[in-house]
Amino acid sequence: MPPRPRLTAALRRQVAARAGYRCAYCRSPQRVGIPMVVDHILPLALAGSSQMENLCLACYRCNELKGARIAGPDPTDAQMTRLFHPRRDTWGTHFLWQADRVTLAGLTPVGRATVTALRLNASWVLEARQLWIVLGLHPPFED
Ligand SMILES: [Zn+2]
Repeated sequence: MPPRPRLTAALRRQVAARAGYRCAYCRSPQRVGIPMVVDHILPLALAGSSQMENLCLACYRCNELKGARIAGPDPTDAQMTRLFHPRRDTWGTHFLWQADRVTLAGLTPVGRATVTALRLNASWVLEARQLWIVLGLHPPFED
């Protein structure tokens, strides 16, 4: 396997700024101290490129849980479905904050498969979102 191409610091900064310093999947804010990484939406293992169109900012947790996957089962019918594509999909089309403002609902098969695959409603994440509400950091205004 060829060596992983290194992303330049300038490219990483560009990806972070474009994302508004939030994870493209769970929308967690970088400013609360969550390590963020640049995610290859189509993984390098599946011949994804390191061009801006294939890159997004992701929290370390989402990036780890996504791994080299691009699909997962929709929990309503177990059908394999592609995961959310931060550059081609609109976040609000696939996800919605529930009335409690901490639980994320998948509105579409893509949204539900992504919520499940990336465990976007893990208990400790819900607890963190409750604290972020108190700090005025959640939910993101643009969502
Ligand atoms: Zn995330």
